[in-house]
Amino acid sequence: MSFTLGILSIQGDVAENLISTKAAISELGFDGKVIDVKTPDEISQLDGLIIPGGESTTIGELSLVNGSLKVLKEKIDNGMPVLGICAGMIMLAKTANDKVVGKTDQPLLDILDIKLERNSFGRQRQSFETDISLDSINIPKFNGVFIRAPSVSDVGSDVEVLSKFNGKIVAVKKGNVIGTSFHPELTEDISLHKYFVNLVNSFKN
Ligand code: GLN
Repeated sequence: MSFTLGILSIQGDVAENLISTKAAISELGFDGKVIDVKTPDEISQLDGLIIPGGESTTIGELSLVNGSLKVLKEKIDNGMPVLGICAGMIMLAKTANDKVVGKTDQPLLDILDIKLERNSFGRQRQSFETDISLDSINIPKFNGVFIRAPSVSDVGSDVEVLSKFNGKIVAVKKGNVIGTSFHPELTEDISLHKYFVNLVNSFKN
């Protein structure tokens, strides 16, 4: 059976995720498509979703206003796989703090029992790339691109830590929900997108 995977296109790194996901679906030979989505109606048709990196306050506020936040939460609570990248991982969290300004009162999905530190590695000029590993999902080496990236400062007992860098948690998973601090769509390596596409395919079929 075919599946439809969406990239939330309210704000952020949408085009790059469309390209990486398309490549992943075609390399895996699945009968699936990827589309950009924004409205509650579009979101309700999906079998999987990527929330891209960007600015979590903007993504949160706009999806609250257009009614998408509620539908997103319902779909993910009902098992739909989701990959939250950077700002997208912040959206999945229960609480978020900014390293400099402290507690932020921003709309979040409260899906993952994690505490987030926004801008944990510094601001734009401190962006960097480094090798990381996600051994438990068979990705031993991955080029992590960190741009004003958050880290996870605390996880609940049901959340698996997939990767750490410099002692900070940079990737997590709970069932069909994955969050990464870094941007897999900004590398040539599509292994993480392939892993996620596989999750979506198994969820649908
Ligand atoms: N610092 C951004 C935020 O807090 C996230 C940055 C990113 O997605 N690259 O929303």
